Amino acid sequence: MSTQQAPNDSINQLVNGIERYFRQYPTYNFRPFQIDGINMYIVLYDKYKILNVESIRVECNVEIDGRTIQQKYSLYHHTYTSIRHALELVKKIKTEYRIYDGELCSTLTYKMLKLEESVLPYSDDEQCSICYVNTSNTTPCKHPICLRCRQECIMQCKLDCPVCREKKAVLYYTNRTNVVNNIVYIPLQNAIESEKNMPDDSHMVNRGRDDDITQSLTLQNEEEHMNEITEQGPMHIDEITEQEYED
Ligand SMILES: [Zn+2]
Ligand SMILES: [Zn+2]
Repeated sequence: MSTQQAPNDSINQLVNGIERYFRQYPTYNFRPFQIDGINMYIVLYDKYKILNVESIRVECNVEIDGRTIQQKYSLYHHTYTSIRHALELVKKIKTEYRIYDGELCSTLTYKMLKLEESVLPYSDDEQCSICYVNTSNTTPCKHPICLRCRQECIMQCKLDCPVCREKKAVLYYTNRTNVVNNIVYIPLQNAIESEKNMPDDSHMVNRGRDDDITQSLTLQNEEEHMNEITEQGPMHIDEITEQEYED
């Protein structure tokens, strides 16, 4: 006899579990996973109703109140209306999303961005200095490096620029347009900061972030990346396809 629960039962119980969890804690972290070789985890921010996909290794510089601070680099974020909606988004991200030039996007957006390359090609100086894939990601010294090579350098503690040896050049996500998810979406910046300010024992924010787990995730080969802006940026197909969840 199978003791497995029907999937809907599991989802209902997970919704209830997260609802109970939020009575005590401000964020809920899902376990880490990998898409196109990039290690990430999903965080739900209860107060802000934001789902954020954070890079495990890569951080970025953001300006808050005139100060430059470091935050986990957001690969993608989306607002949610209910926990059930958030879980649908989680499932969709895990099954349908790809990395394109350092950001997560839906398969449909990914295909369109690849097609756009025929009319908006990358230039010769937009190739990763390590693996030569097309990328607009750079070091602060303006040397191109793709997100996966950046992550791998960080994991191997090779933090200097692979081209000019500028100190700690690979640490923080940078790109030619300077459009980074955390930077363009202020509520996300604030949500991440509010989480940082919580006492350590008050939430599960560190769950799954320890080195044993992240280092056991192996890097895969393949693929190019490129830059897209969610929320507040140019219109994206993601925004359309995700409408179905608002119903
Ligand atoms: Zn690379
Ligand atoms: Zn350099």
